[in-house]
Amino acid sequence: MSGLINTLTNIFSLEQKRGYSNTAVVGGLANFIGFLQSNANTENISAEDINSLISLFNRYAVLSLEDRITAVSTVIKWMRDDPGVNRLHLTMPSSLENAAPKPESHGQDKALSGLLQSIRGIGEKNSLFFNKLGIFSIYDLLRFFPRRYQDFSQLKTINRLEYGDELSVIGTLKNDLYTRNAKRGNLKIIEGVLSDSTGSIKITWFNQPYLANQIGKGSAIVVSGKVDMYLGRLVMNSPDWEPLDSDQLHTNRIVPIYPLTAGLSQRQIRKIIYQNLPFWSTRVKEYLPEEVLECEKYPPIANALSHIHFPDNTEQLDQTRARLAFEEIFFLQLGVLAQKTDWSSQTARRYALSAQEINKSEERLPYQLTNDQKAAIKEILADLNSGHPMNRLLQGDVGSGKTVVAKFAIQTIIENGAQAAVMTPTSILAEQHFRTLTQLLTQDEVAKEDEIALLIGSTPQKERPEILEKLADGRIKVLVGTHALLEDPVTFNDLQLAVIDEQHRFGVEQRIKLHEKGENPHLLVMTATPIPRSLALTVYGDLDVTTISEMPAGRQPVETRLLHPNQRKEAYTLIRDQVAAGFQAFIIYPLVESEEETDEDYRAAVNEKERLAKEVFPDLKIGLMHGKLKPAEKEKVMLDFRKKKYQILVSTTVIEVGVDIPSATVVLIEGANHFGLAQLHQIRGRVGRNMDQSYCLLIPENETALENERLAVMVKTNDGFKLAEFDLDQRGPGEFLGTRQSGYAGLRFSSITDTQLIEKCRKYAKAIFEEDPGLSQPEHQLLLEQLKYCWPGIQFNLNN
Ligand code: ADP
Ligand code: MG
Repeated sequence: MSGLINTLTNIFSLEQKRGYSNTAVVGGLANFIGFLQSNANTENISAEDINSLISLFNRYAVLSLEDRITAVSTVIKWMRDDPGVNRLHLTMPSSLENAAPKPESHGQDKALSGLLQSIRGIGEKNSLFFNKLGIFSIYDLLRFFPRRYQDFSQLKTINRLEYGDELSVIGTLKNDLYTRNAKRGNLKIIEGVLSDSTGSIKITWFNQPYLANQIGKGSAIVVSGKVDMYLGRLVMNSPDWEPLDSDQLHTNRIVPIYPLTAGLSQRQIRKIIYQNLPFWSTRVKEYLPEEVLECEKYPPIANALSHIHFPDNTEQLDQTRARLAFEEIFFLQLGVLAQKTDWSSQTARRYALSAQEINKSEERLPYQLTNDQKAAIKEILADLNSGHPMNRLLQGDVGSGKTVVAKFAIQTIIENGAQAAVMTPTSILAEQHFRTLTQLLTQDEVAKEDEIALLIGSTPQKERPEILEKLADGRIKVLVGTHALLEDPVTFNDLQLAVIDEQHRFGVEQRIKLHEKGENPHLLVMTATPIPRSLALTVYGDLDVTTISEMPAGRQPVETRLLHPNQRKEAYTLIRDQVAAGFQAFIIYPLVESEEETDEDYRAAVNEKERLAKEVFPDLKIGLMHGKLKPAEKEKVMLDFRKKKYQILVSTTVIEVGVDIPSATVVLIEGANHFGLAQLHQIRGRVGRNMDQSYCLLIPENETALENERLAVMVKTNDGFKLAEFDLDQRGPGEFLGTRQSGYAGLRFSSITDTQLIEKCRKYAKAIFEEDPGLSQPEHQLLLEQLKYCWPGIQFNLNN
């Protein structure tokens, strides 16, 4: 290779290594032009090519990052191609020839959203592994945060090591590494002795014979790991190690530990991030408002991104985490507020129901509405008639009578010719609502039976086209269903009201999706899970809240008893007594370590039903309900139970939410210790739905599980609000919200129970929206961009 080509190669590789920062030549690449010109004649490079190079060096400073990458790789390829005399002509991509310096943009550098493959250390194959981890762009990689850290920042001399220490040791290998086979198995053991001026310690690796080629007698290395004991002497087994003179990223520092996927090792990920971090993190422009950084003393984003991966010390890591925790909640809030601003700035059609009609409907009900129900209806009707889309959360404990309130909203919409949708988390609940609403709406003569339809995951394929067609042309006025409603082919003629029942089972995304099925429809979400204030501000920050705190007249609190497994007989006696008095009972079998019903649950329910029918209640009729039944079968079982064809219903948790059988007065929960508190409360809510005393019997799996704190709380209180607070404290938001609440389950640095942080974020988010509701000011462009990054797939129709 010629001298000039050699020099050029060095310059460009350095330029690459330094992230195209125009620093490979002191003062910038343009300073190299003189050298290039004076050496041009000595080489067999054509004058044309020299000119191309000069022109490139001249313009390099004003090229965008992307263009620099293209240019450098073109030149490197050209140089490598050199077969000797006939060097091919250097052709720069034409886009580059005309490349003008990019105008100063208000957004992030576009190169950040470039594909991973364009950076060092990541090729075609590697990038697929990263994709599996959800990392597609360079920015994704920067935000691929360590799961945890190992603190190897502590250094000790060998004489001060103690058993159990986790730290780093610096020393020199006394001899070459020694490899031997283990006595049993085909394990290879590699041993060495590390010494410093104070002593020495044996280190051992397993099945890494190649180490002997990498280090040997006299190698100065750093090892990090745990100090162990073998035959009375201190040793270190399988420590991480690095040469002392390298950049230490696996040892002698706080070492990041990343979530892994097959194909990528911890060391590989660390190295790739370490190599690319300095350049790319400094490319990220600050998106948080200056005021926030100043008041809260958070580090700037470039530092945060760098330090979250490779912190220098724990204080720095803590500061960085504080910033990232703030970001999580802040962007959550901002998203929710953006949604609210978006919706409430829109106009919606007005719908009204006359006082006369309300009265008539009320009179047809078999009971008196409670005052809270009346107030809720009034508020909702006012929303529907406000000219802006309703966004209301109706919260009320299990059995407080939310369905009938929703009915008034639906009635108002369909009387005026538009459509309503009701979405539920389970098909059993969808079927029940379908039936209840059909009954109420036909009795009010606002809809005919065939104007109300049910759509669930298992609605037969051959029935779908008709439903979809009637929905699209408006013949169906009310569609009740599960998340099947959200699927693409479901299009409404004119959806004007979306009702979501048991909202806590859905994510914000689903709420938004259903909303998008109509043209500014009104939205009513209902939940029986009372929301502690901190949560309400975040999760439901975009909603107006109505609470029903009053139970229908005559309701008695459910009496809850905790029984020993050997007191099961008493439970059966109580069930028998209640059945004799004309009531019905549920017996629920546990959910084992999963949110969905498992095969085990199913088998438990099936087996127990047989046992109960044979040995315990041979004279009674027992129904069986579980998730494996076909929808039609489920419906039949529920219907038969409602008609009292069965006195007892043995079930898995498929009936957990919403199911309403007023004549059921006992629920026996087996394996009660397996359930979450919110779930237990929901299941208990299946009884106590009439004027009679109801019972909830909890039997834990075994004697030891009797100590279960959750069960004790269940016995103590019937108040869903208190239970929710307790649950949130004990188990955190994951359990409380259900893992289906994507976005919230994903909080890494913050906790949704951190009221202080939530309030703080809310204050800032609100101030920003007050000043700039459309986030359209230039200084908010980076913020808006980051907001979109945090809420992928969600359209923020802000006015800009
Ligand atoms: P939830 O709020 O748990 O969804 P539902 O709407 O299923 O409660 O109502 C529970 C039961 O209470 C139903 O059987 C319903 O008919 C009945 N109900 C609703 N409102 C009243 C009321 N004001 N008085 C008596 N019973 C009522
Ligand atoms: Mg309900």
